[in-house]
Amino acid sequence: MSFLNVVEIESALAGLAAAYPGISQLITLPHFTFEGRQSHALRIGVGACPRPAVLIISGAHAREWGGPDICVNFAADLLEAYSTGMGLAYGGTAYTAAEIKKIVERLDVIVFPDINPDGRNYSQNTYSMWRKNRNPASSGGDAGKIGVDPNRNYDFLWDFNTTFAPGAQAGGTLASADPASDIFHGTAPFSEPETKNVRWLYGQFPRICRFVDVHSYGGDILYSWGDDSNQSGTPGTNFTNPAWNGKRGLPGDAYAEYINACDLSKASGAAGAMSAAIAGVRGETYASAQSFFLPSWGSPYPTSGASDDWSFSRYFTDPTKQKVFAYTVEFNRVKTFFPSWAEMQKIILDVDAGLVRFCLDAAPAFTFFNWWCLLKKWANEAIWHRVFPPELWGPYGPWERIRNVAESVLFPIVAPILRRFGRSTGGGRR
Ligand SMILES: [Zn+2]
Repeated sequence: MSFLNVVEIESALAGLAAAYPGISQLITLPHFTFEGRQSHALRIGVGACPRPAVLIISGAHAREWGGPDICVNFAADLLEAYSTGMGLAYGGTAYTAAEIKKIVERLDVIVFPDINPDGRNYSQNTYSMWRKNRNPASSGGDAGKIGVDPNRNYDFLWDFNTTFAPGAQAGGTLASADPASDIFHGTAPFSEPETKNVRWLYGQFPRICRFVDVHSYGGDILYSWGDDSNQSGTPGTNFTNPAWNGKRGLPGDAYAEYINACDLSKASGAAGAMSAAIAGVRGETYASAQSFFLPSWGSPYPTSGASDDWSFSRYFTDPTKQKVFAYTVEFNRVKTFFPSWAEMQKIILDVDAGLVRFCLDAAPAFTFFNWWCLLKKWANEAIWHRVFPPELWGPYGPWERIRNVAESVLFPIVAPILRRFGRSTGGGRR
């Protein structure tokens, strides 16, 4: 056994869909890569009710070899455990059969393991340190200028030359308009098939509420935001406000990205829970932190056009969309893209334990799930968007602030009650 190649990843997904037809579905992504590859994802879940969804992607950066392997193993574990009525144990972190059942029956878990197969194929066969895709459109025929970094190509402050302070480029992490750069951001937001496919999944599953992009390395679990430090005091100071163009991306100055206190506590809470689940496996401590302060990098790491920031930003640019709490995992505390396969097998157990925890936290606690999700959907559409429309008042406006305050007061009271309710009646298969 070794790292999966690009053909094996696709056949693994097809194999899982064929082996577990009642609880999984192979999804064919519509946008072909430059080299003509068609990617697939796998949806895991049963039940008729429209349900919240979790999207897990990997493989954006070609040389970060273990990410797709982590995702394929995660999908296989979940499907096998559910179909045999078993729990899952990863070293010292364990989940009961009831917890697995809760994930599979109350969520759509969408796993898209390898968003950049052209890059992976090139890394595994020709030049191992390759990072980007293999699109030559901006190369002008120069082999040294092939490829776009998919994780700088999403539509979040993509035009970094306008939206960020010039000094934010100093660390070499933000993005680049130079096709020869490893962080070349492409010719336009979503110019690349790899990112178009991720966006397409959001269109297909509008109830995606959690997102993880699995990268390496460093041992970090990163939550919003990635463009600047966070602040919860001034809603108007945010990425949608052009008055702050040219001022983003530096710590300790006037600009910091707005995230309300309730969202921040939810965002960091889920990251901390994932970190604890990973630590339970064999003691690997993954730092949970805001992505701007990437701990394993050691200094601020501003980014533009990244998948996690775009995912979280969608609601703030269009409040009819679901709010998505979005994360990046940097697996492997040893700073190498190419651990031995024996070491990688241990890392797979670490991160998969974290991903199960992540899904479990996203699964609705309420037991009468069919009623509950329909009621929430109705309340959201019939009441919230009609009476207090964030479309009208703005996602940073007065009603949104009232809702945030109400949520921050009610959430700590209601959540434990719902959790207890869920536990007492959520038993069953072992
Ligand atoms: Zn990466």
